[in-house]
Amino acid sequence: MNNNFIDLGVDPIIVKAIEEMGFKYPTNVQSRAIPHVLNHQDLVVMSKTGSGKTGAFGIPMLQMMEAEIVGPQALVLTPTRELAVQVESDISLMSKYQEVTTTAVYGQHNINIEVEAIKKGASIVVGTPGRVFDHISRKTLPTKGIRFLVLDEADRMLDMGFIDQVVKIIKTLPKNRVTMLFSATMPAEIQRICQAYMNEATTIALESDTKTVDAIKQLYYRVEANEKRTQLDRLLKIEQPDSCLIFCNTRYAVDKVQAYLERKGYVVDAIHGANTQVSRMKTIEKIKKGALQIVVATDVAARGLHIDDLSLVINYDVPIEKDSYVHRIGRTGRAGNTGKAITLATADDIMTLYEIEEHVGCLIEETELPTDEQVHEAVASATGKWVGVKPPKAHAGKDHKPSDHKSREYKSKDHKPREHKPREFKPMVQKVLEEKAKIVHVAEPIVEKVKEKIHVPSKPVYHKKPKTEVKVETVILPKLGPIEFRKSAEPIKKKKFLDKIKDLLVK
Ligand code: AMP
Repeated sequence: MNNNFIDLGVDPIIVKAIEEMGFKYPTNVQSRAIPHVLNHQDLVVMSKTGSGKTGAFGIPMLQMMEAEIVGPQALVLTPTRELAVQVESDISLMSKYQEVTTTAVYGQHNINIEVEAIKKGASIVVGTPGRVFDHISRKTLPTKGIRFLVLDEADRMLDMGFIDQVVKIIKTLPKNRVTMLFSATMPAEIQRICQAYMNEATTIALESDTKTVDAIKQLYYRVEANEKRTQLDRLLKIEQPDSCLIFCNTRYAVDKVQAYLERKGYVVDAIHGANTQVSRMKTIEKIKKGALQIVVATDVAARGLHIDDLSLVINYDVPIEKDSYVHRIGRTGRAGNTGKAITLATADDIMTLYEIEEHVGCLIEETELPTDEQVHEAVASATGKWVGVKPPKAHAGKDHKPSDHKSREYKSKDHKPREHKPREFKPMVQKVLEEKAKIVHVAEPIVEKVKEKIHVPSKPVYHKKPKTEVKVETVILPKLGPIEFRKSAEPIKKKKFLDKIKDLLVK
């Protein structure tokens, strides 16, 4: 493995610029990718977020820009505006001692400014697929000189529904080009793109680069849905992070959580799709400079946030997409720093969390919620910007109506580890009986699965049918996955269904 940029064949004027950015040695992805690109080879890089991939394509691309060519020579497609801005700004810093200009193009940005920047001779254009395609259609982005194409976070572009646009863009580009595709995962659709639009690409799979994830301490807390905000407050008081990013699944939740934390006295801002680009960038700058303690964000807004010393990521909501988890926690523990990722999981989230564990390939440790005593101690010994943080009122806040189970837990001085008593399957059956449910057919393969193991069923999802009828459509059993009761199938006799369930319970 090469241990410096010069050994990789990087031009000293670029090395000078990247050293000023604090890049002394190439990261794993950089040392493996740069020589290939300098050799004009197509490249597929499977790498987790935060591995230094911008340098992996930006550095060699800059080296191969030709000053005499007028117009764009390289096009970088990114899934979000934030990432476009970040990538463009990184490449621009890397090109500090070169005569190369770069520009970013993305939705909600003034298109005339972009047109001017391209006209003035930007060699590298970084943008979101929608806006790039818009420019190409208006003929304001000439593509004939493009010799490098980068598809950054390709799996995310697929997730976000941009892949058709990406393909349309690719079709307008000269065939004689170097194509680089970066993706944390390789769904079939992305593999098809590699086959169709790349030329004998070398694949670099950075298995060991899970270090980005390995360097992150990942844990989760079991919480009740109605106590999430209170627990969040308590955990923040325990953690006292230098900088913290809290993820919610919806804009609504982001606003709610932000308002709640503000009321609690935190210096907190929110980023989501409804904020303008300018305000998002301002928020990012503020947390980078340490002027904010906390940012609450949705996934889309958080793509491309580069905050190197982010010490804590909290999943206030468990992400719906498994890949989002990787991307979210990748905001901490970047480029060799250690980080921490906390997830709040309600009973309904546990299944998803197991799936995420499988996807990430490591265990997310369950941890006991802090006791009142621990929270008070942490508040009393607060340092830095956490000095003066108010201790929480003993779970008496108006947002928090603890269940009996919870109250016991908070009040207990000699706090005992929380027991996850498996709930019996019977109450569900009972409930079905009580509600005179009309049970729909149980899919056979699923029954087989249930036979393997029955434990900790969470609440069944009841869908109210007219008045007395209740359809049980899904029962979520952790470790087993949701048990679907076919919606459209013929209802079976209640007794037959119950016999089946009882049969399973006795085993
Ligand atoms: P990226 O994967 O390009 O988003 O990079 C993740 C983070 O690592 C960014 O904050 C970069 O500034 C940083 N980084 C990239 N390359 C290096 C390097 N060679 N040495 C140190 N930090 C780096």
